[in-house]
Amino acid sequence: MKKDQVKVQWQGEVVSVQPRSTVWRYLTDNRTHRECGYNIFLKGEVCGDQPENRSDKYDFCVAVSEKQAQKAQIHIGDVMKGTAWTKLYPETEFADYYRAGGIKKLETLPARQMSIEIDTVSTRYDGTPIPRVNSADYPGPPWKTEVPPLEIYAWRGERMLSKSSWKGKCFQCIWANMANVTIQYDFDRNLVRNRFETFCYGPLSCKYYKMGPARAVPYKGRDSASDQGWLDEICVEYRNDPDE
Ligand code: SF4
Repeated sequence: MKKDQVKVQWQGEVVSVQPRSTVWRYLTDNRTHRECGYNIFLKGEVCGDQPENRSDKYDFCVAVSEKQAQKAQIHIGDVMKGTAWTKLYPETEFADYYRAGGIKKLETLPARQMSIEIDTVSTRYDGTPIPRVNSADYPGPPWKTEVPPLEIYAWRGERMLSKSSWKGKCFQCIWANMANVTIQYDFDRNLVRNRFETFCYGPLSCKYYKMGPARAVPYKGRDSASDQGWLDEICVEYRNDPDE
């Protein structure tokens, strides 16, 4: 652990909860997403540090595990407090703080949970049943229910979302996502590039959806390849219904 990593105490009102994910890119041949928890965006105070990612929408972002999110049933309108640590590698982590602990809910507002249905008819190619939720059963866009389990996100898959949409109309949506992306830049020397990218796990029919510009995926010694959106089609191939 680096000496400059510090433990902070935070408190604030939750203004958005989104899945936290890592993405591995290799040219336009591969874009692999892994959901690893949730990012909670809060308006409030941090004792012991000055967060970097402030915007007009939120003051700081804390990464929490799936277990922590489920236990506390974290959703928009909750007032929460806890501890967390500053980042060891800021270039690979979007959240301001992670390794959260001591999470307590101080106030809460009612929020809806999404019902999960296990689809044993339209299964994966090997017959694996698919857990689904139907967004059309809930008010949106943006969808502001409690976040579903990560398994739901993993099955739904995601499309590229314009950064301006993420910052604007989509910010409070449970389907919006700011991913920690690693680009494989040179296999021989295992060199990578890191950046953050915005995605949407929401209904294919969402009227707020905008892909934004194609995304360059550099590789050493080659002209940059460009993700024009066709990888999105592969990522969402298990969707049955554009409204789900
Ligand atoms: S485009 Fe995606 S993130 Fe934005 S409101 Fe629609 S479903 Fe939510």
